[in-house]
Amino acid sequence: MKRIGVLTSGGDAPGMNAAVRAVVRKAIYEGLEVVGIFHGYQGLIDGKMEVLDLGSVGDIIQRGGTKLFSARCPEFRTEEGQQKAIEQLKAHGIDGLVVIGGDGSYRGSMKLTESGFPCVGIPGTIDNDIPGTDYTLGFDTALNTVIESIDKIRDTATSHERTFIVEVMGRDAGDLALWAGLAGGAETIIIPEVEINMDEIVERLKSGSERGKKHSIIIVAEGVMSGAEFASKLKDLADIETRVSVLGHIQRGGSPTGRDRVLASLFGAKAVEVLIAGNGGRAIGIQNHQVVDYDMNEAFDNHEEFDMSMYQLSKELSI
Ligand code: ATP
Repeated sequence: MKRIGVLTSGGDAPGMNAAVRAVVRKAIYEGLEVVGIFHGYQGLIDGKMEVLDLGSVGDIIQRGGTKLFSARCPEFRTEEGQQKAIEQLKAHGIDGLVVIGGDGSYRGSMKLTESGFPCVGIPGTIDNDIPGTDYTLGFDTALNTVIESIDKIRDTATSHERTFIVEVMGRDAGDLALWAGLAGGAETIIIPEVEINMDEIVERLKSGSERGKKHSIIIVAEGVMSGAEFASKLKDLADIETRVSVLGHIQRGGSPTGRDRVLASLFGAKAVEVLIAGNGGRAIGIQNHQVVDYDMNEAFDNHEEFDMSMYQLSKELSI
């Protein structure tokens, strides 16, 4: 292995830049050359890439977003697109590829590995929804952004004695909503993993108000329904007035937390080590505080049991 490539793909996540930096610096430290590929798989197909030196990744460890840009690329889902990508990789003398992204990006990199081109994946997504790793890059930063927002919303909720619904990101995974709800002291948390029970929610809001509670925070993961939809359900069912706050893309931005920067550095260095060892089709992750690599196919196993204990605790602490 003499020359490796690195790209970021799918939704951006805080910590991607720190991971690119780690890949570049560790690879150069190990005597490799690194090529940065711009705009994800689209840039790979189009040959948009350049050699990255030590200085090119300076001053990015603290920045959100991704210096390499990110994109969704429908063409790469086709065999033809994947062949074009492999031709570009060969033409640029690249022997291995680090892909930083979510589930879809992993699937794309697996296609390349199956075609004989070794790829290693770094989990970069705020959703924390990749099986095989306890945390994904960007989750901690997004979590802190949501908590900060909840704290601010709570100020106005308390002052005006109102119930607020906060809609957070999470199409299929409720980790962000659940962790933020627990950390922000939300009264109700609605996530895709747990079936919604409107009667119980109304009951909780009513009994809270009967014991003198003047305000409430309800967190809704966008995958279940929108905040507006939930607000109208509460209005129709129990004539409960609410205000809705949709956090949107602020959750994906911002300077990565210390935890995400450390994870990014560990993941980036590990990815380079795995490629040097000649292994493709591996995913990098952290399991019980240990940085590990594992068969990427395990990252596609969506049957991982959801840990109900934290959800249960959030209910117990917000009675
Ligand atoms: P996020 O978690 O933020 O959505 P992601 O990596 O899952 O990130 P996707 O849009 O699903 O984001 O995937 C990124 C890109 O990966 C796609 O635009 C496509 O180019 C490629 N990709 C996704 N799924 C496949 C697949 N099954 N085969 C080949 N390429 C794929």
